[in-house]
Amino acid sequence: MEPGAGSLLVAAVAERIAGLGLVAQTTVGVHQTIVAALGDTAGRDELDAELAELPGVERVVRISRPYKLSSIEATMHEPTTLHIGGREIGPSTFCMIAGPCTVESREQTFAIAESVAAAGASMLRGGAFKPRTSPFAFQGLGREALEILSEARDMTGLPIVSELLDITQADLFRDHVDVIQIGARNMQNYTLLREIGQMGMPVVLKRGLSATIDELLQAADYLLRGTEQVILCERGIRTFETATRFTLDLSAIPALRQRTHLPVIVDPSHASGDRRLVGPLAAAAAAVGADGLLVEVHDDPTQAHCDGPQQLATADFGGFVERIAAHAGLAGRTLA
Ligand code: PEP
Ligand code: MN
Repeated sequence: MEPGAGSLLVAAVAERIAGLGLVAQTTVGVHQTIVAALGDTAGRDELDAELAELPGVERVVRISRPYKLSSIEATMHEPTTLHIGGREIGPSTFCMIAGPCTVESREQTFAIAESVAAAGASMLRGGAFKPRTSPFAFQGLGREALEILSEARDMTGLPIVSELLDITQADLFRDHVDVIQIGARNMQNYTLLREIGQMGMPVVLKRGLSATIDELLQAADYLLRGTEQVILCERGIRTFETATRFTLDLSAIPALRQRTHLPVIVDPSHASGDRRLVGPLAAAAAAVGADGLLVEVHDDPTQAHCDGPQQLATADFGGFVERIAAHAGLAGRTLA
């Protein structure tokens, strides 16, 4: 829409789109309002001229990519900035999401929460429901973990990030969590994506273990039908290499930047599986333009219930944040 086009004009365009048998989805941006016309428009070339004539319409852009709402054209090349629990995530900030792989106890979680907050973390992450490879491995404390995380938020003011595994957990997450994490294993669980999108909450969507960038962005489109607050997370992909747990695809960050307006963060912990590699990969992520990190931190990693070898010790986290903040500064960003 033209800058300054009022809500009546926007509503009229949306109504016309519906009348054409398409679904209208309106996004009110800082500079401009965009009305997406979703549906099968192949072979309906007359639509463009018809919509372009409506009052208030600046131009009609066809998005020929397989993903639509997540595509960079959907916001006329304007990167999305999100505001979550007082933290800004976008092109001028660097978001540091930190915390244990899994919530193990009250004491452990509070100790880690206070320590990462003091070190300058932007948000606290902790697993409550864990997608473990083996059914015999620790599955997480569930509801109790979310209650502990909620208390940790009250203590520190840090917004909470945790993974939702099943839509039956929706009410619990609404009550206790600020950002829903969708794990790599669920990136292609399209029913779940649709349902989580409908919750209208901020979401971190992790890239599937063997998912292409195109597939990641199409998965994001499922969420974007319901929520505008989606953050993508590169967390390493399966390759022939076995020296690291996964292979961190650093090229995904600038490649995503060319294709999408959504913020992109990096998880160097699950990508490497080795805390000694987390610092260098995090620095590289900041240098290559990531909007932030998701890092595992534990007060005593040798005793962790899961992912011990990759978790940074709280004692080392302050120095880590300082180094990464310097790299982010060179990329023109300040810690969120
Ligand atoms: C996690 O972040 O705790 C996790 C299980 O990561 P991923 O889904 O990327 O394997
Ligand atoms: Mn983990």
